[in-house]
Amino acid sequence: MEKLIISVATTGSVTTRQDTPYLPITPREIADEVYRCWQAGASIAHIHVRDSNRERSMDIELFKETVSLIRQKCDIILNLTTSGSGEITEEQRLGPVELRTELASFDAGSMNFGPRVFINSPDFLEKLAAKMKQYNVKPEIEVFDGGMVYNALRLAERGLIDTPLHFQFVLGVRGGLTATPRNLIFLKDSIPPDATWSVIGIGKGQLPLALISMTMGGHVRVGMEDNIYLTKGVLAKSNAEFVEQMVRLSREVGREIATPDEARKILSLT
Ligand code: ZN
Repeated sequence: MEKLIISVATTGSVTTRQDTPYLPITPREIADEVYRCWQAGASIAHIHVRDSNRERSMDIELFKETVSLIRQKCDIILNLTTSGSGEITEEQRLGPVELRTELASFDAGSMNFGPRVFINSPDFLEKLAAKMKQYNVKPEIEVFDGGMVYNALRLAERGLIDTPLHFQFVLGVRGGLTATPRNLIFLKDSIPPDATWSVIGIGKGQLPLALISMTMGGHVRVGMEDNIYLTKGVLAKSNAEFVEQMVRLSREVGREIATPDEARKILSLT
């Protein structure tokens, strides 16, 4: 089996300091946390930024600052978010692509998302795909529901997304597929054989789905965007603790950990 790629999503847009006092918020805090995660074995960092009120933000200056601080410290692969709903405009969502990181998230369809509606219209997906192609940013295709796989495959068939595709299966969001082994296997069986894939289990789904993915040849994402508990009732004091846990488990099941450069090869990043 190829080496395991560990992605870390340190902050996200929803988790608050009330949920966990250990959430990194400022560009400096996020960069320091990403560096600790890289030291622990993470090869990809998925980045969201927050404004001075700790609210979700798509301010491009905050992204630039965060990217630059991380770049000064390590060679981790960067995956900026292009997500957003409500008052965040499509234009703002397209913004991070211009920073030309190696990856950016690509939410492959619309859905109910907790109490909100998460809109990714066909027209927006085409615009996002075109922009990512223009800036040579590979989409990490986030799939919350079965139909989203096919949205991505259709875009690839039309040449709007380059192959091999890279999927991130997000299981356990209220409104999407639940975090069960059956759903993970169904999604994995729905993608082309040359595609790479990883899994995000939300909340208590994180650890069991990561273990299943490790043994099935997939990759994993962990971090406080998706889950704040290291074990039942025990808050992680740092995102690096999640990465360390993945490294331990992966070695136990006989899979070595990919460095960022090894992850670049596995994901065909150019
Ligand atoms: Zn995200």
